[in-house]
Amino acid sequence: MTDKNSLMRQLPKVDEIIRCIIIERAVKAPEVLIKLAVKKEIDAEREKILAGESTGCTREALLERIEGEIKRQNRPHLKRVINATGIVLHTNLGRAMLANQVSDQMKDIGAYYSNLEYDLEAGERGSRYSHVEQLLTFLTGAEAALVVNNNAAAVFLILNSLVREKEVIVSRGELVEIGGSFRVPEIMKASGCNLVEVGTTNKTHESDFLDGISENTGALLKVHTSNYKIIGFTEEVSVERLKAIGIRHQLPVIYDLGSGLLIDLQAYGIGEEPTVKKCLEDGADVVCFSGDKLLGGPQAGIIVGSKEYISKMKKNHLLRALRIDKLTLTALELTLREYLDEAAAMERIPTLNMIMQPLELLEKRAQFFLQSLDECPEAEYEVVETQGQIGGGSMPGVSLSSYAVCVCRNDISEGMLEQMLRENSTPIVTRIWKNKVLFDVRTMNEVEIQTAADFLNQL
Ligand SMILES: *Cc1c(COP(=O)(O)O)cnc(C)c1O
Repeated sequence: MTDKNSLMRQLPKVDEIIRCIIIERAVKAPEVLIKLAVKKEIDAEREKILAGESTGCTREALLERIEGEIKRQNRPHLKRVINATGIVLHTNLGRAMLANQVSDQMKDIGAYYSNLEYDLEAGERGSRYSHVEQLLTFLTGAEAALVVNNNAAAVFLILNSLVREKEVIVSRGELVEIGGSFRVPEIMKASGCNLVEVGTTNKTHESDFLDGISENTGALLKVHTSNYKIIGFTEEVSVERLKAIGIRHQLPVIYDLGSGLLIDLQAYGIGEEPTVKKCLEDGADVVCFSGDKLLGGPQAGIIVGSKEYISKMKKNHLLRALRIDKLTLTALELTLREYLDEAAAMERIPTLNMIMQPLELLEKRAQFFLQSLDECPEAEYEVVETQGQIGGGSMPGVSLSSYAVCVCRNDISEGMLEQMLRENSTPIVTRIWKNKVLFDVRTMNEVEIQTAADFLNQL
């Protein structure tokens, strides 16, 4: 057995390797990154020797590993990926993609000064919320609007501003959890109000709400069950009925709508969700929703409703802690501007465009992908029809038919291939179905399809 101690002694010195990387190899990277990479790789080798997993590696092999590590560390960690899952709003992949015109404006606002909080007409301090308030009131019919960091923050701000130290009544069937970190009961507790659950999981009646009302009640809350659907023997209390109760007991009706549609997608045959405008017309006093779900904009929480309630939120000091930044704000403004022309919005907002893609077009795109793949004895390629979801906790139960190219290789397992795709310089995120790797083309453009095809062709 080779002596572990002598193997350890043979390991090159950290300082000497650093000098070699910088001077002889002329690697261009910040010195701290080089030091970290050298230390990391030498430590890893030392661990392996101690564990008896290495009988020493050549200096050259070690240098290669270090250079690879420096390269990885010297690139931005948050980067673009290719979404081949077909899930349009994938929370792990950044939810909504912004339109090109939106990112152009973000670049300008980021790189230069702006009128973020400066009223150019009056020559004095202005409000950052002024850039979107009018657009939002126009698009939803609300009296007033406010935007914050995300919808979780919106729910928090609404409750903290309107119902602190009071009770909020909510149906048991609507105590949702979204993505593991947003739980309605937790947010309510954190915002300083007390939750009063009424009804049962599948059925809540008007009388349950009436029974729950006491002198401590501060609001009635409705939460959209964004990521699940209770089907079968069910009953919920509509916004209209809640409003009737609210009027009688002088309580505001708050609606956490989750996704928040500005265009009626039912008219296009997608889902059954009400628009924000409809919820307000039905009587909700305050409605909140996300900017990066079906709206197709940046991460944001949008609050619309009556002036009386929104001004209380504007005066809440916590608003400062939840405020939206200028890059997000400009992306939101430009996304909302697209909605001034509904047909243009359906075309130019990537989220809506991808949801609306006709099946024939998806099939054509999958065929184009297939034709870009070279014949290979180890690989089997096939176009298949798939069923996808919109995702991002939007429209549960609505499934979108799509087309995918599935790949099966006799020399690489599906799990291995899926991992190799993730480790590509532009990572490609796929799904495994049966023992195949699936590329759903709904969420891929032609250039991305070419990138994926090139990857598969060079295997
Ligand atoms: C998604 C969702 C949230 C959380 O919104 P974020 O913008 O992700 O903070 C809250 N409530 C409902 C009903 C949702 O669907």
